[in-house]
Amino acid sequence: MMKLMEGASGRKGKGAAERQQVVQGRIFACAFCRGTGILLRSKGIRCPVCRGGGHVEVDPPAILCAYCGGRGESKPGTNITCIVCLGKGVVSIKEPHIECRQCRGIGVEANSKLPCLACRGKGVRSGAST
Ligand SMILES: [Zn+2]
Ligand SMILES: [Zn+2]
Ligand SMILES: [Zn+2]
Repeated sequence: MMKLMEGASGRKGKGAAERQQVVQGRIFACAFCRGTGILLRSKGIRCPVCRGGGHVEVDPPAILCAYCGGRGESKPGTNITCIVCLGKGVVSIKEPHIECRQCRGIGVEANSKLPCLACRGKGVRSGAST
């Protein structure tokens, strides 16, 4: 079920295709510091998420955090870690997983902008149990 490029235009913002895709591996570059180990926009402050190591470990299977879009920041341009992935940018999930209907996979409650209660901001729920 390979999905080919459906038109190269309109590739800005979050693409639905990038979400809910299982990412391979267990060690990832730390999203919060972009793998540098140093807090962004700081002068040498050690990243609190990876403790300066530049990488984080997440139990597979994992997906990009829907709530922050994999950035690891609760809001762009802040030094506040995402409360869903805790700054890692990826969250471990349980297979099989389905898109969360309550937030339509974006992990955000429409009204409050808080993490979706049904999926805890991950954008997916376990398909096995409800
Ligand atoms: Zn880091
Ligand atoms: Zn996140
Ligand atoms: Zn949800």
